[in-house]
Parts: sequence; structure tokens; C-alpha cells
Amino acid sequence: MSFDSLFLRAELLSAVAQSGYTQPTAIQAAVIPGVQRGRDVLASAQTGSGKTASFALPILNLFDEAPPLEKNQVQNLILVPTRELAQQVFDQFKHYGQDLRVRCAVVYGGVSINPQLMQLRRGAHVLIATPGRLLDLMSQNAVKYDQFSTLVLDEADRMLDLGFREDLDRICDKLPTQRQNLLFSATFSPSIRDFARTRLRDPLEVDT
Ligand code: AMP
Repeated sequence: MSFDSLFLRAELLSAVAQSGYTQPTAIQAAVIPGVQRGRDVLASAQTGSGKTASFALPILNLFDEAPPLEKNQVQNLILVPTRELAQQVFDQFKHYGQDLRVRCAVVYGGVSINPQLMQLRRGAHVLIATPGRLLDLMSQNAVKYDQFSTLVLDEADRMLDLGFREDLDRICDKLPTQRQNLLFSATFSPSIRDFARTRLRDPLEVDT
């Protein structure tokens, strides 16, 4: 399979080529078409599998002329367990979306919240966040979900191991029920299965 058969915009194909990727990894070949069909996805994904591009590319593919965002609106939310991963995922979105008019933002704890409050005022097409800091920002009315599209849970098993289940539930409860959900996890433990059962709708299961 080649990237050309994945119905990606020219700007994304050129960013992919610039990265030196010649063909999609197994997880990309399975997940990208599923996301484009509007499916929820439950994917087992190891680090190094290319999982980030498997959700970043189809999400970015939606931005032709990115629609105007109202104040504080977040359209796509990527939840990750650590600030290091948040920064890495943000960097990949910036890279793949370099030729698109897409506003990406990243928020995590351990740093001052004020610049994040300011940044979110303009809204974000893609927000990458750790759960605790996102809840802090939500409690200050800095994040709204009226134009919401897709939720991604990246390294979901690590988020549960770190004790974020309650935070994830609180965040999910605030999102519109009409949304697409993509869950990536290194393992499918009973707690991941339980979370997926309550939050995903008839997910496409991808095990590469
Ligand atoms: P990830 O699993 O998302 O952390 O990605 C691991 C590494 O694989 C990253 O450095 C990516 O830049 C790289 N990568 C992602 N997709 C591809 C691809 N199709 N071909 C080669 N490398 C890739």
C-alpha cells in the first residue's frame, strides 16, 4: 500500500514525503481508512509503530480551509499521559500540518496556567492535553466543546495506570455524545476493555 491510496490532501502527502516515509506502517494502513469512514477505533499500538500519524493525518485531513472557531472552542482533543508525550504529539501535528491553516495547541501541568488560558481564548482545532491540566482549564471555562469532532486517547493504558480513570470520565462526560473516539493502548487489559465498552461505539478493532 502507498500513502497515495489513503485519500490524503496534497499538503499532507508532501509533509509525509518530507519525513522520508515511503509507505504507511501497518497501524496507519488499518486506522486511517477507519477514521475516514467515521468509525470509532480501538487500536493496540506499541511505541514506534507510527500510531501518532495514524490519528494525526486523518484528523488534519479534514482541514481544507479550517472553519472559524468561536472563542475557546476545541474541535479535536488528544489526551496523553505525560507532558513529554504531549510535546511530541504536538510537534508531529505541527509538522504534518505545516502547510494547512490549522491551529494546534498543547497544555500540560507543571508550568504556569496563564499563557495556556490566553492561548485557548482563540480556540484550537487540535488540542493536545494531559488530563489534570485540562480539567483545571475546563473548571476556569477556558475550554468549550460546541464545535467538537474527535477524541483521541493516546497510551490509554498508561493513563489508567497513572490513575487518570476518574479524570478521563469527567472529561468524557463534558464532551458532546455525538463524536468520534479513537483509543490507542499498548495492551488491552480488563480496565481498558471496560473503559472502551463504556465510551466507544462499535469500534473498529485494530491489532497490528
Ligand atoms: P510513533 O509510534 O507515532 O511514536 O512513531 C514512531 C516513529 O516512526 C516516529 O519517529 C515517526 O516519525 C516514524 N514514522 C511514522 N510513520 C512512519 C512511516 N510510515 N514510515 C516510517 N517512519 C514512520
